[in-house]
Amino acid sequence: MPRKCSVPKCRSNYDSTTEHVSTFKFPSDPVLSQKWIKNINRKDFVAGKHSSVCIKHFEEEFIVREDKAVRDDGTVLVVPRTIPALKKDAYPTIFQNQPSYLSKKLPQKKKNTGRKRSRN
Ligand SMILES: [Zn+2]
Repeated sequence: MPRKCSVPKCRSNYDSTTEHVSTFKFPSDPVLSQKWIKNINRKDFVAGKHSSVCIKHFEEEFIVREDKAVRDDGTVLVVPRTIPALKKDAYPTIFQNQPSYLSKKLPQKKKNTGRKRSRN
């Protein structure tokens, strides 16, 4: 049985007739785990062994879809993963079935680093 998604109103894997959605277990790091719980908006939720959040709630940049291994001769082997993984610091930010104010945009990466104010 695929794990069900812990996000309120998300129906991933609740219906066995639809496609199986990849899910991720809550992180073992308690600080990061709290961040997940806060983000999915379930204040009193306690993440159990089988609690998980589906891939739909993660930004693409948090998802690892291929493995890289360096061969002995220094060349890199890239293997697409059959099951996607999450990066270490990943947390859910996308909640399509919830009021939009709950969805958080990841901070934009600053491209202009050369515009620091100078006092001279
Ligand atoms: Zn979900």
